[in-house]
Amino acid sequence: MSATETTVELGPFIAGKAEPLGDSVQEIRDPATQRVVGRVAAATAEDVDRAVRAAQDAFADWSARGVAERGDIVGRAARALRAGVDVLAPVLTAEQGKPLREARIELDKAAETLEHYAGLAKELRGAFVLGLDPGVSGQVLRRPLGVVGAIVPWNFPTTLLANKLGPALVAGNTVVAKPADTTPLTTLRAAAIMHDAGVPAGVFNVVAGPGRETGEALVTHPLVRKVAFTGSTPTGQRIMSLAADGPKRLTLELGGSDPLIILEDADLARAASAASMGRFFNCGQACLAVKRLYVAESVADEVAEAVVQKASRLTVGRGTEKGVQLGPLHSERQRDLLEDQLRRTLEQGGDVLTGGGRPAADELSGGWFHEPTIVFEPPHDSPMATEEVFGPVLPIWRVRDLDEAIERANASPFGLGSSVWTSDLDAAAEAAERLECGYTWINSPTKVYDELPFGGVKASGFGKEHGSEAFDYYTDQKAVVIRRRTREQQ
Ligand code: NDP
Repeated sequence: MSATETTVELGPFIAGKAEPLGDSVQEIRDPATQRVVGRVAAATAEDVDRAVRAAQDAFADWSARGVAERGDIVGRAARALRAGVDVLAPVLTAEQGKPLREARIELDKAAETLEHYAGLAKELRGAFVLGLDPGVSGQVLRRPLGVVGAIVPWNFPTTLLANKLGPALVAGNTVVAKPADTTPLTTLRAAAIMHDAGVPAGVFNVVAGPGRETGEALVTHPLVRKVAFTGSTPTGQRIMSLAADGPKRLTLELGGSDPLIILEDADLARAASAASMGRFFNCGQACLAVKRLYVAESVADEVAEAVVQKASRLTVGRGTEKGVQLGPLHSERQRDLLEDQLRRTLEQGGDVLTGGGRPAADELSGGWFHEPTIVFEPPHDSPMATEEVFGPVLPIWRVRDLDEAIERANASPFGLGSSVWTSDLDAAAEAAERLECGYTWINSPTKVYDELPFGGVKASGFGKEHGSEAFDYYTDQKAVVIRRRTREQQ
């Protein structure tokens, strides 16, 4: 089954069953061609209520199972997902637009994250404190929260869900997920695959539909104890205000404008590769994409030339075509937004070194394509520096030294990640201390490791995904005081 032949029809996945489409149907279109590739039910508030109740009903049994058993089931689900990559990757490409190779990478990574948490199951433990007072000890029990609402965007529908699903399920919670209204197909399919692999009915449910209706019905449902959200900062702020009514636990993984700093003693070729890969993977639509490049002035022209070479050689095309490295932007809205940011920037200043518009090829005119683009020295108060730019446009600035680079990097409202390339260990260590963000890569491509906590500061949100730290966000730590009779009392 190739992506171009796929037309999937799916209702919500509730209590282990794929339900019929119903009356409120939403079409899913391929961003490369605008062809309809699927139809899904837009879940109503009643559908959300049924899904949350199914998750609540499943909670007692799921949370009472041994943690090793839950880990084992999540591990089986992960292996089933991995075995399903050949079926799921074309569906992901069809609804999201990314090249097939990147769709496979994404799905493998989602399975890897679930496997990671399956493996961590036996590490999930609380604490025991002896001697609080004579004859008094304390326990810290980790208890699951209950029903978790997981809301994810369209850029990485499966990995961003797996980041939530892994720790939530292993810790004993049940989940209702809401994918973006333009990318529900892979998630609905994955839920069925994972159920068939042994995830009990009601433990993982999926409702598709628009954020304002389906998403808000989930966030405000009284039985939802925690909302784990990835998406834009304004939506995160809206969810935060809605969650105040609970009040509910929240993890907000919001936007980013990650800087990459290259000092003059860096390995320039590897640094330029990291900048290019970090910017153009997934057509630049990643929260942790490299969105600002600051280069020491003595090597700035050399680095700019290397990055331009890489950008201009990328093969732009439909994700289903062999050899394509850059697919379309996900939607018309995303392309309009990007073009507007580029136009407003260039009105203020800056030189386009390559790209700058839509590709000329006729066969790409039906999709939301944009050329890989490099802009040299736009003003520091232009949208390239002050807004999140979610597409294949990389601005480059010259900086005098590390101090200026850090000052510029920290001037952003966002604080998700950052990168530093240098052979000076002291400079690297100083940068890691001073950069205001949740993750710093030193001489490394921007790869996220399951072993390390990931999450932002400032307008990039709060809370951690990945790492054993993620369990803190899906458990409550309950204190228990145990007093034994002292000798005098016996
Ligand atoms: P949103 O933040 O609007 O959407 C993310 C998820 O939240 C989607 O599932 C969406 O549903 C849902 N949602 C939207 N509104 C609500 C609400 N009121 N209550 C509950 N859930 C809601 O991001 P967009 O997709 O609209 O993208 C806009 C911009 O956000 C991008 O240009 C980019 O800058 C940024 N972004 C950042 C991401 C990141 O990883 N940092 C990821 C995606 C976007 P639905 O799609 O159905 O509206």
